[in-house]
Amino acid sequence: MEQVKCYMPQTLQEALEIRNETHATILAGGSDLMVSKSMGAGITPAFSGPVMLIAGVKELKGIRALPDGSVEIGALTTSAEISRSELVHPLLRDAASRMGAIALRNSATIGGNIGNASPKGDMPQPLILLDAMVVLKSIDSERTIKVDDYILGSKKTALSDNEIITKVILPPQNFTHIFFRKIGMRRANAISKLTLSAAAVVKDGIVVDFRASSGAAGPKVARSRAAEEMLIGKTLQELPEVKDAFLDAWNNVISPHAMPEYRRNSTRRMLAYFIDALAAGHPEGRVD
Ligand SMILES: Cc1cc2nc3c(=O)[nH]c(=O)nc-3n(C[C@H](O)[C@H](O)[C@H](O)COP(=O)(O)OP(=O)(O)OC[C@H]3O[C@@H](n4cnc5c(N)ncnc54)[C@H](O)[C@@H]3O)c2cc1C
Repeated sequence: MEQVKCYMPQTLQEALEIRNETHATILAGGSDLMVSKSMGAGITPAFSGPVMLIAGVKELKGIRALPDGSVEIGALTTSAEISRSELVHPLLRDAASRMGAIALRNSATIGGNIGNASPKGDMPQPLILLDAMVVLKSIDSERTIKVDDYILGSKKTALSDNEIITKVILPPQNFTHIFFRKIGMRRANAISKLTLSAAAVVKDGIVVDFRASSGAAGPKVARSRAAEEMLIGKTLQELPEVKDAFLDAWNNVISPHAMPEYRRNSTRRMLAYFIDALAAGHPEGRVD
């Protein structure tokens, strides 16, 4: 039987040294990797090189509020922990709480969800709307980049073979209105067919900020600052006049592959619903 060499570091320093020397595949919760590498019961999973189980690295765990109002989420934080934390922005909590079933949410980590870069992964979509950053550490350097820049495409990331995702940083946000939808085959344990987050800051009847992001709608999360800017600076009364132009622009944000009609029409309806609610003076908070 083939053997897979396994490392089980207990500190971040140890993990960084192992990654630097061996370029071992990082295994966090294993809910993606153990499925994709599985060869069946009793057969060694098909890893092509060594594997590093990072579950024991305490420095990668937990959620902390930072003095500047940002929130730091350790890479090993599970979707169950994120969904329960009052520190985490509700859009990310919504996405985390709708992942798989409870057993999965207890093992699926945020580092793995970003690290996997699946177009159907649920957390990158709100993270990209929130302008979240990811911290990548190697033995001799650390860099902080936008999650949007980390995910290059379907299953492609900017991670170097000596780096580890150590944490995700959510910058402070002051949205007055938020909207989240996940469309799947059923409510629990369903991979996303389409997800959408939208958020706005409305002040004195003017849209000061507007953001939207679509998940499972192309090789990576779709967001367009150019489209968003069509609504920013408009009064609530002006929204109905610019709505169709915005929705047409958003059509082009959705990938032309994989059921574009379904994805474009559904996204258009959801975004129109959110914009109509803003225009109608919806009270601050969640638009459901
Ligand atoms: C039944 C089932 C249902 C699922 N449902 C959903 C769902 O509804 N929504 C959803 O989004 N996903 C779903 N998934 C996929 C999976 O559970 C998630 O993507 C999960 O977040 C992966 O996290 P993990 O810790 O298990 O990652 P792992 O499997 O351990 O790793 C995944 C990838 O990320 C890399 N990685 C992990 N941690 C790091 C790190 N710290 N630094 C750098 N790279 C790292 C790994 O090397 C690997 O490439 C489902 C999976 C299963 C089996």
